[in-house]
Amino acid sequence: MNRRVAIMLGIGLLVLAPWVLPESLVTILNYTGLFSLVALGLVLLTGIGGMTSFGQAAFVGISAYTSAILCSSFDWSPWLSLWVGLGFVVLTALLLGALTLRLAGHYLPLSTIAWGLSLYYLAGNLKLLGGHTGLSGITSIDLFGLPIDTGRRFTYLVWFMVLLAIWAVSNLLESRIGRAIRCLRGGRSMAAAMGVNVPQIKLLVFVLAAVLAGVSGWLYVHFQRFVNPTPFGLNYGIEYLFMTVLGGAGYLGGAILGAGIITLLREWLVEYLPALIGQNGNYETIVLAVLIIFTLHRAPEGLWPRLASRWSGRQERHSPLSSQTSIVSPLPKRETHPQRGTPVLRVSHVTKRFGGLVAVNDVSFELRAGEILALIGPNGAGKSTTFNLLSGVSPASSGEVSFLDQNITLREPHAIAQLGMSRSFQHVQLLPHRSVLENVAIGAHLRGSAGVARSMLHLERVEEQQILQEAQRQLDRVGLGSQAQTLAGNLPLGDQRILEIARALCADPCLLLLDEPAAGLRLQEKQALAKLLKQLRTEGLSILLVEHDMDFVMGLVDRIVVMEFGEKIAEGLPEDIQGNPAVIEAYLGSVQ
Ligand code: ADP
Ligand code: MG
Repeated sequence: MNRRVAIMLGIGLLVLAPWVLPESLVTILNYTGLFSLVALGLVLLTGIGGMTSFGQAAFVGISAYTSAILCSSFDWSPWLSLWVGLGFVVLTALLLGALTLRLAGHYLPLSTIAWGLSLYYLAGNLKLLGGHTGLSGITSIDLFGLPIDTGRRFTYLVWFMVLLAIWAVSNLLESRIGRAIRCLRGGRSMAAAMGVNVPQIKLLVFVLAAVLAGVSGWLYVHFQRFVNPTPFGLNYGIEYLFMTVLGGAGYLGGAILGAGIITLLREWLVEYLPALIGQNGNYETIVLAVLIIFTLHRAPEGLWPRLASRWSGRQERHSPLSSQTSIVSPLPKRETHPQRGTPVLRVSHVTKRFGGLVAVNDVSFELRAGEILALIGPNGAGKSTTFNLLSGVSPASSGEVSFLDQNITLREPHAIAQLGMSRSFQHVQLLPHRSVLENVAIGAHLRGSAGVARSMLHLERVEEQQILQEAQRQLDRVGLGSQAQTLAGNLPLGDQRILEIARALCADPCLLLLDEPAAGLRLQEKQALAKLLKQLRTEGLSILLVEHDMDFVMGLVDRIVVMEFGEKIAEGLPEDIQGNPAVIEAYLGSVQ
């Protein structure tokens, strides 16, 4: 079934549902909508952004309580209190995010449990918030003079919000910021090297997820017209995560599916289980837990991709981006390239220690504009480590690196990328489940300027088109143009390396760092790559290359720096290096 038709059909069913469904099912539909909003935030945060949170219910609560107090005690209109509530949510998320998002591994989920618990106890103990008895008599939402005070009316409001959220989030995900968000899971250092401010993007995703939870809280409190701490405790925080994972944490549709299934099942189990078992006792939670474990065994990615593939006969793919739809003006190019022959990169006495291991020891060299310099040496010589400290991935322990006359020794990778340095990685870093074109477009991150709001409203079409067109141009240039729509993970390894070069070129750099670009290429492909690199040199680009293949290096580069055991042992023209006894010793002495 066509995606558009499916969406229209879904909306049609939603319009009809409140009229044909019995009251009890309308209530379930309403709760599904409320939960979907929170789960949608979790798809963004956990499924796509890779940050697990058990604490989303707290954000639902912050917004719900703020609105409840403002409307019941101060007689505010719910529409006004929505903004104040969301303001509190954003502030709290910024604060919590700044404190906890740096935490690595399991510490982030653990800290979300901590704040998930705290709101529950805070609300339960504060007189102002009504303690465990809660607050009642809260006004209902008024929509153009129509009070949203029945379940059926509420269905329209809540589902309008859900659809609006899905539209905005999916627009966002298909923008330059969306590509940056997708890198958060498994591609952070790559994204940073392409100029993405990773901590900022993490915080952004965190705040957006909190805002979606906040909208749900606002709707909830004005629908129930009553509030107490129970729905905002850790239990609900865990259940939101269950919904998301069960539905499919990587898919927007998964949020709705998961919310719907759990809401419906819980309702049925609460109704029928006591009769079946013969006694009361919250057994539904146990049955749900078993069902979830069983389902995740069979469908680890959640139910949505299963369902979607059955529907359309293939694995669900997000709308394939195309660069061919219309021709737009190209992205502006870098205004000035450094004068040929002037120093671009100066490395002075840099040392990098990993505990007791000195991976790079007092290395100095210089790279001039329009030059290809090779960094060679046996495995473990410290070449990749040198790359990492030039590009800011791991800063030098001592020494100084300057790029275009600026000291970049301790700068963040995204700030270095901004100056015009772009790189590829020895171990390819790409988004395997996204198209080749999208992967390359990540490289153009710094050449776009659309922010969150413009992206969500899809007002950045021209810029987005320009970026995709540029990505296509770079793919054509490296000879991968025909593969633009292939999933990057399906490319052979050699082509994935070439993709990384196209991505780096997309940034319009003046210095290119390539870590073993020819590894895994066949002879013909190596020749094509050498031709491309020579062409780039002619255009004024400077290139620093790590390479093992001597034949490839000798015919291509202007100068060579040789490293062994972290130290520079030789530097010079290719023909001099070839005959250098220390180099021959280093290479023959180690097994390549
Ligand atoms: P090359 O790229 O020349 O093959 P590397 O720069 O990858 O060599 O590694 C140089 C040395 O530093 C090796 O001994 C390697 O084990 C060590 N090393 C590299 N990265 C790290 C790290 N993050 N932590 C500890 N040791 C490291
Ligand atoms: Mg290496």
